[in-house]
Amino acid sequence: MSIMMKGSEVVAAMKEELLHEAEELARQGIIPQVGIVRIGARPDDLAYERGARKRMEAVGIRCMVTELPEDISQAAFQQAFAAVNDDPATHGILLFRPLPKHLDEEPVRTMINPVKDIDGMSPINMAKVFSGDESGFAPCTPEAVMDVLAHYNIELKGKRVTVVGRSMVVGKPLAMLLLKQHATVTICHTRTVDLPGTCRNAEVLIAAAGKARMITADFVAPGAVVVDVGINVDEGGNLCGDVDYEAVAPIAASITPVPGGVGTVTSSVLAKHVIRAARELNALA
Ligand code: NDP
Repeated sequence: MSIMMKGSEVVAAMKEELLHEAEELARQGIIPQVGIVRIGARPDDLAYERGARKRMEAVGIRCMVTELPEDISQAAFQQAFAAVNDDPATHGILLFRPLPKHLDEEPVRTMINPVKDIDGMSPINMAKVFSGDESGFAPCTPEAVMDVLAHYNIELKGKRVTVVGRSMVVGKPLAMLLLKQHATVTICHTRTVDLPGTCRNAEVLIAAAGKARMITADFVAPGAVVVDVGINVDEGGNLCGDVDYEAVAPIAASITPVPGGVGTVTSSVLAKHVIRAARELNALA
């Protein structure tokens, strides 16, 4: 039977480190602060916000929420975003996405101060991820995957790693972070010929396709490490990943569950980024 790579264990280890760093900042009179910008009040946004606030407040980060009306105009949205961006007390900004359809995300992606861009949405931070420059912020979910792999001591150097999914939020930046760790990376998508065979060739398989339980036992080589980024709701209304956990767990060496895997770690990555941004904005090493 495989090792279950639990997000909660990664979170617990990160919490110690973050508490220590926040205490260091507090000694210098700095309280790390995140500005959360949310448009409307979608139940899943509110649930994520509650979880993220709890995680961040537990390590001494102050959370300020700017809630904007669902029908806000583009100009008013940009103005409100600029106010958070320009607020000297705010070190990191978390914008809830996707935005309502009538709003364009592009202007704020270019407007956001890259040092406050804790979810790696600005073109500058994206470019840094793609050029292997670690001075920027990677998007939280790909970094959470890397933190899970590091916590469970999964060696990546020289390994065949396959990522299913090529979005700019997960698949592509994740592939770059893996490459930085000297993995031999294959990226799969909907046009991949022989997806099961390509996945079966992987020593580490990472699913980020957004298709409930699509990774079945015949996609996985015996002894492979399997990371499930997917968050889906199945026909029965239950939360599940992209991996058919029951079928794959007996074959894999280690595997992340859903829920309780990668998704659990993303708010801790946000917290890590806010503390780093607070240090950088105060010119601390
Ligand atoms: P997108 O829908 O933007 O991208 C999905 C990618 O998967 C695309 O590149 C698509 O290929 C590929 N894909 C979809 N179906 C298949 C298939 N049948 N075979 C091969 N490739 C396929 O999703 P995201 O990247 O935003 O998210 C991916 C998953 O991760 C979702 O379940 C999402 O909920 C979850 N997620 C989890 C987070 C977390 O914190 N754990 C945070 C963010 C997302 P193509 O490009 O060809 O269309």
